[in-house]
Amino acid sequence: MRLFILKDLKLDVSVVNKTFEGATFLPDIIAFLDKKAGELREISDAVWDYAELGFKEYKSSKVQADYLESQGFSVKRAAGGIPTAFVAEWGEGRPIIGFLGEYDALAGVSQEASYIRKPRVEGAPGHGCGHNLLGTASLGAALAFKEALAEMKVPGTVRYYGCPAEELLAGKVYMAREGLFSDLDVAITWHPGSLNTVRLGSGNAMNSAKFRFHGKTAHAAADPHNGRSALDAVELMNVGANYLREHVINQARIHYVITNGGGQPNVVPAEAEVWYFVRAPHRHQVEEIYERLVDVAKGAALMTGTSYDIEFLTGCYEVLINDVLAEVMWRNLQKVGAPAFDEDDLEFARRLSETFDKGVVENLRKSPEFQEYKELQGQILNTTLVPPHGKGRSGGGSTDVGDVSWIVPTVQVSTATVPIGCPGHSWQNCASSGSSIGFKGMMVAAKAMALCGLDLIEHPEEIKRAKAEFDEKTKDSPYKCPFPKDREFPLDQF
Ligand SMILES: [Zn+2]
Repeated sequence: MRLFILKDLKLDVSVVNKTFEGATFLPDIIAFLDKKAGELREISDAVWDYAELGFKEYKSSKVQADYLESQGFSVKRAAGGIPTAFVAEWGEGRPIIGFLGEYDALAGVSQEASYIRKPRVEGAPGHGCGHNLLGTASLGAALAFKEALAEMKVPGTVRYYGCPAEELLAGKVYMAREGLFSDLDVAITWHPGSLNTVRLGSGNAMNSAKFRFHGKTAHAAADPHNGRSALDAVELMNVGANYLREHVINQARIHYVITNGGGQPNVVPAEAEVWYFVRAPHRHQVEEIYERLVDVAKGAALMTGTSYDIEFLTGCYEVLINDVLAEVMWRNLQKVGAPAFDEDDLEFARRLSETFDKGVVENLRKSPEFQEYKELQGQILNTTLVPPHGKGRSGGGSTDVGDVSWIVPTVQVSTATVPIGCPGHSWQNCASSGSSIGFKGMMVAAKAMALCGLDLIEHPEEIKRAKAEFDEKTKDSPYKCPFPKDREFPLDQF
C-alpha cells in the first residue's frame, strides 16, 4: 500500500485558510493546523488509498491510532470489543470534549482522484462519502485542541473516537452500548459535503434486520406437497410489507433485498432470507413500524407453514440538534472562513460536474436550501459560508452520530469537499475526496471544530446551556440503545 510523500506535493498551506480574526491565543490553533497540514494530508490520503469497508478498517484505524500515540495521546485499541474502534485520550479533568471520526469506505466506487471515470481497482471499495477526510479532520481538531489545552494550562480532557462502520450504521451504536460516550460533556464532529454550513435539520432513525425463514425441502416437481417453501414466506412477507407502506407515515422508508432465495428452481427452498431497513424521522416511529413488520413476517410464516427468526443487525437514532452548540460552531466556522479554492480546484470541479445528472442538479438548485441563498446559484464549488439552516427538515439518510447526540450534546459542521450537486456515495465523491478540494474542505472543518472546542473552554457557560437544552429535549425519552444489551454484536453478519 502506497503512502503519499507529501514533501513532493509542494503543499501551499498558506492558501488553505482564507480569513481569520480571532482572540489572542486562537491564531495559534490555525497556525498549528497549517503546520500539521502535510501530516494530515498524508493520513487522509492513506485512508483514501486503503478504502476499507466497515468493520474491516484495520489499516485505516491503525494509521490514525499510531499517529495520535506518537503525538502523546494514550490510545485504547479495539474499544468496546470492536477490532477497528479506538479511543485516544489526553489531559485530565473536565470538560471532556470528544471529537468523532470515521474511516470506512463504500463498496464498488473505487476511483482515481480524477474527473474522468477511472477505478483504481475495478469493482473495489472507494471513499464515496469522504470518510478519509472525516476521520482525519476530527483527528486534527483533537490534536490542535490538545495543544491549546496544554498551552493554556487549564483542566480538560480531549478524546478522539475512531468510529468504524458508519456506513453500516453500527459502529457508534455498539460503542454507545458499551458506554464509551457516556461521560462526555460535548461531542463535536462534521461531515464532508457540498456546502460550508451548520445544518439544523436531522436525518432518519432506522432499524436493520435480517428475517430468516425455515421450511422443508422437497422435489419441486415430484412431491412439492411435501415441501414448505421458505422463499414463499420471503415473497409473502415482501407483499405484506409493500401493502404496509400505504398505512405508515409519509416520511417512513422501508427497503429490502433478498439475501438468500434458495439454490435452484427444482428444489423447494428450505432456507431463505430477506434483509430490511426501516427508517422514519423519529426513533419511536421506527420502533412502531418495525413491530408491524415483525407481524408481517409472522403472518408470512403462518401462511406458508414455515418458521422464522430475526437477526437484528443494528438500529440508530435520528440526530438531535443542539441549538446552543450549533451557534457556537457557526461563529467559529466564520472565524475560519470558506476553503480558498484556486483555479485548478474550480476547473476540476467544473469537469467533474459535467458527469453529474443534469436533472438532479437542476432540482437541487430549486430546493429551499438553494432558493434561500441566491449566491449559491452561480457556484459550482461553494466558496462562501451558508448560514445555519434546515431547522425542522429531515433528510432521508441516517447516521449513527444520532445515537451519540441522544447521549451527550453534539454538534456537526459541514464543509465543501465536493462540487455542488455531486451525488452521494459515488465515484465522483470518491474522486473529489482524494483531491485538493477535499483536503482544503477538510482543513476548514478541522480548524472550525478545534476553535469550537476552545470556545467552549473559554465560555464554560455555553456547555451548561447546551446541557440544559439537551436535558429538556431528552427528558421524556432518554437514550435506549436499539441493540439489545444481552446479545453479542453480529460483526460477521455485516
Ligand atoms: Zn458519510
